[in-house]
Amino acid sequence: MRRFGIASFVVALALCMALRVGYCQDANLTEPQGDSEAFANYAPKVDPSLDLRDYHIHLRGGMTAAMAHERAKITGVKSGVLENNGREWPIHTNELLDQFVAGVEEYNASLPEEERLKIGVQVNDRDWYKVIDPAIYARLDYVLGDTMIMGKKEDGSDQRLWLLPKDYDVDQDAWFQRYYQHCLTVVSEPIDILANVTWLPDFIAARYDELWTRERMAVLIQAAIDGGVALEIQAESNFPKPEFVELALEMGAKFSFGSNNFDPKLKNTDSWKRNFERFHFTREQLWRDYRYDGTAPKRVKPAEKREIDYNAIVKRLQEKGIL
Ligand SMILES: [Zn+2]
Repeated sequence: MRRFGIASFVVALALCMALRVGYCQDANLTEPQGDSEAFANYAPKVDPSLDLRDYHIHLRGGMTAAMAHERAKITGVKSGVLENNGREWPIHTNELLDQFVAGVEEYNASLPEEERLKIGVQVNDRDWYKVIDPAIYARLDYVLGDTMIMGKKEDGSDQRLWLLPKDYDVDQDAWFQRYYQHCLTVVSEPIDILANVTWLPDFIAARYDELWTRERMAVLIQAAIDGGVALEIQAESNFPKPEFVELALEMGAKFSFGSNNFDPKLKNTDSWKRNFERFHFTREQLWRDYRYDGTAPKRVKPAEKREIDYNAIVKRLQEKGIL
C-alpha cells in the first residue's frame, strides 16, 4: 500500500474542487510530507481482495461526494456516503432525503460502475421506517443506525447521550437496563449497520466489562445476525472492545468499518488497524451491500421492525453452547 502525505492529499482535493476537475489521479500525491500518520493508517495493509468499504462517510462540514470518490481511489478503501436523517437533523423530510440521494446518484452517473459511491442514510428517529418514503428507501444501498440518542429531554428534544455530563447523577444499573433495551430496539429496525456498537457514555464507560456481560453481548449479536445487521468498527472509537468482536466473529456476525467524519479530514483509523491485526477478518466476515454474483440487494429488507424475544435467544444460545 503506497503512503501519501495528508497535506498534499488535502491540497490536491482543494485544487480539484476549485477547478472542478473530475479526476485527480495525476496530481502529485506520491511525496509523503507533514503529519501523514492518520492518513497512512486509514488504509491498513489489508488484502485488497477484502474489498473493504468505509460505509460511514458523512457528507457534512465540507465533505463532498467527489472527495469521497477521490479518497477511495487513493486509499483503496471504497466509499459509502450518508447523512443524518431525523426530525432534529439536516435531512428532516422525505423531500430533503430525496435531494440528498439524487445528488449522489447524479454524481455516480458520471463514474464507471465499480467506482460508484454507495448511498446510505443514518437514521436518528426510532420511527424512521414508518416515516421514510418507500420509493426513496428502495434507492438506498444501506441504512445505518446507532444507539447514541435515547429518549427525550424535558424540553421535548432528543436526549443525545454523548452530551451527558461525566458526573451524570442517575441510577446507573437502571439506566443501563434501559439503554440495553434501546440497543435491542435499534438492532430490530430494518437497518444494515449498527454503528458504534456497545458504546457507552463517559459517565458509565468505566463499567463496560461489568455491564456488557457475555449474555447481553451474545443476545445483541444474535439479534444482529438474525436481522442481517452488521456491527461497525468505527475510527477513533474504543467500542466495541475485543471480547465483543471475538464473540461476534465466533457466532458468525458480519462487521463493517466506518469513519464517522465531521469534515473532509481523514480520521485516525488505528481502531481499524488494531482489529484487522488481531482478528484477521476474512472477506466473508465483512458486510457489504451487494453480492459477488453481481446481484445488488438494494433494500430487500421490508421497512418493518422485528420482534426480539430476549429469553428465546438466550435459550437458543444455550443450546448452541454459546452461553
Ligand atoms: Zn454518523
